[in-house]
Amino acid sequence: MFRRLFMVIILFAAPAMAQTTAIRAGNLIDPATGTVAKNQIVLVKDGKIAEVGANVKIPAGAQVIDLSNSWVLPGLMDAHTHLTLGASGALYLESEYLKESSAARALKGLRNAQDVLMAGFTAVKDVGNDANYVAVDIRRAIEKGLFPGPTVLTTGKIIAPFGGQSHGIPPELGPFWRFEYQDADTVDEVRKAVRQNIYYGANAIKLVADNSPYFYTEEEIRAAAEEAHRAGIRVAVHVLADAAARNVILGGADSVEHGFELSDDVLKLMKEKGTFLVGTDFPYEHLKIMGTAGGIIPPPEITSKAILDRLRRAHRIGVKMAFGSDVVLDLPGKTRADMMLDYLAVWTEAGIPPADILKCMTTNVAELFGWKGQRGTITTGEAADIIATPANPLENIQALRKVQFVLKDGRVVKKN
Ligand SMILES: [Zn+2]
Repeated sequence: MFRRLFMVIILFAAPAMAQTTAIRAGNLIDPATGTVAKNQIVLVKDGKIAEVGANVKIPAGAQVIDLSNSWVLPGLMDAHTHLTLGASGALYLESEYLKESSAARALKGLRNAQDVLMAGFTAVKDVGNDANYVAVDIRRAIEKGLFPGPTVLTTGKIIAPFGGQSHGIPPELGPFWRFEYQDADTVDEVRKAVRQNIYYGANAIKLVADNSPYFYTEEEIRAAAEEAHRAGIRVAVHVLADAAARNVILGGADSVEHGFELSDDVLKLMKEKGTFLVGTDFPYEHLKIMGTAGGIIPPPEITSKAILDRLRRAHRIGVKMAFGSDVVLDLPGKTRADMMLDYLAVWTEAGIPPADILKCMTTNVAELFGWKGQRGTITTGEAADIIATPANPLENIQALRKVQFVLKDGRVVKKN
């Protein structure tokens, strides 16, 4: 019985894996340089890019995909998502996990993962608030081929100084936030929390540095970075203001998440140390609905202005940036991907040219994830994560809202 089942799976899988796919790309964009190569052929075999060029010969029997009138580019990436969160109005993190089961969160997360893939996001990092390691299960289900989905990095439970991201909880209620956070208040506790996350399947680490009047020291951040880097994974740290940000940068974290209030001095320090900014540059319309997220961020008017100003300054100073959305809302009539793409308007308003935005959504994220040479460009040997749009995103970045074609690890998942 098992042998027969195995054969069926092999037969089902074989044609897709063995077949060569040839894409006729009328305009092939290289986001690393912002340049376009005309009339290229991209050959894809065994999920990887086998050859790229104008004079590449298409082998007999190859599946040919004609995108001669389209703009072909690597799949988009989002370095800051919460796939299993989705508030319908003002965000209170506690109510998300006190009122929804892990199963409900998993279903929501899987729906969001599939939705973002169909919109052209072929890789995302889930930075926690995922019930009981639910995003790890979603990632594994996608990796096993049970469902189509993007490549997912998952951080597991968020590591924070006592209290997680909850404010003003009476002592009688106990530390219930530990359902989604790990309290870690010394170097040793931070090390243990990182190891615990890795044990339960995290392949990235997320800390919250300054959500309370007390915040992580440089030594505590360094402990997290050492533990994570030894295991070959990256560290992202939620930090809003300068004092904690210095500790985060000097402690060796790979990315600062949010950083809404960072000064030019700290942005320059990030540039010098090569720390990425994942700015999660919220549109005002989203902030208005979210509110202060239970006291985590200042009121919408203040946050919105700070974000725009910091985004402009970070770009001018030349900090390495990776696109990260941090969408935590489910709004009627909008998909998760629609809401992620709402952020493009903020980047445009900050005066950032489309080519730079595209780089922050592709090659820069791949670099932050440690995927250089593996994913993020359309180059021989890299994973075949390829998308296409009818209009040129280098002219108008809003073209990314109409992705017509998605190839994920060499398989066609969308073709209009
Ligand atoms: Zn977040």
